[in-house]
Amino acid sequence: MVTLSFDNGPEPEVTPGVLETLAKHAVKASFFVMGRKVATAEGRALAMRASAEGHWIGNHTYSHTKPLGELDRVRALYEFEQAEQSLDWLDQRPRLFRPYGRAGKLGKHLLHPAVVEKLVSGKYSTVLWNCVPGDWRDPEGWMPKALRQCRSREWSLVVLHDQPGAALKHLDHFLTALKQLDVPIVQEYPDDCVPIRDGRIVGPIETWTSSRAD
Ligand SMILES: [Zn+2]
Repeated sequence: MVTLSFDNGPEPEVTPGVLETLAKHAVKASFFVMGRKVATAEGRALAMRASAEGHWIGNHTYSHTKPLGELDRVRALYEFEQAEQSLDWLDQRPRLFRPYGRAGKLGKHLLHPAVVEKLVSGKYSTVLWNCVPGDWRDPEGWMPKALRQCRSREWSLVVLHDQPGAALKHLDHFLTALKQLDVPIVQEYPDDCVPIRDGRIVGPIETWTSSRAD
């Protein structure tokens, strides 16, 4: 199976095209949005549209400048909470959070212990990934790589980017190719990508949390 996620938007130049392509293929996905982009009127309208069209929306930090595990407590909480404020209109349970990894890397830099506490007390689900074909680095060539990864893994949670110069150009082709391969596209997430589900720690969270005390 394949689950699709689109990170770093919404973007007025890109998100409408992504939504139209997904609708054409009757695919539901997740959008992990940047708080500072959703805080604009245009960004908010796009995120609301994605939500109204059945996609799931998640917090992907406010400014997306440094992984939370590299920040101190105050800044890490700000990144999380400020993005939540820009999503205060979102009526979706569970609430979703995806940390910023820096080029899709997984590791202890992803989370700060203070944010983990918030994720638990607020009953969030934390959504990581297992497939990063690099659409933003290689907007022409990411697709064959993505298809190869999707065929080699039982359930791929693919990270694509809802930003200029990334996935959109070959998204239609990608979705057609997945259909030809008979790969079902689902909206749910594989268990090994969700270390916190509805506020319950169900994965090895220390693997993705910094040990900083400040
Ligand atoms: Zn990102």
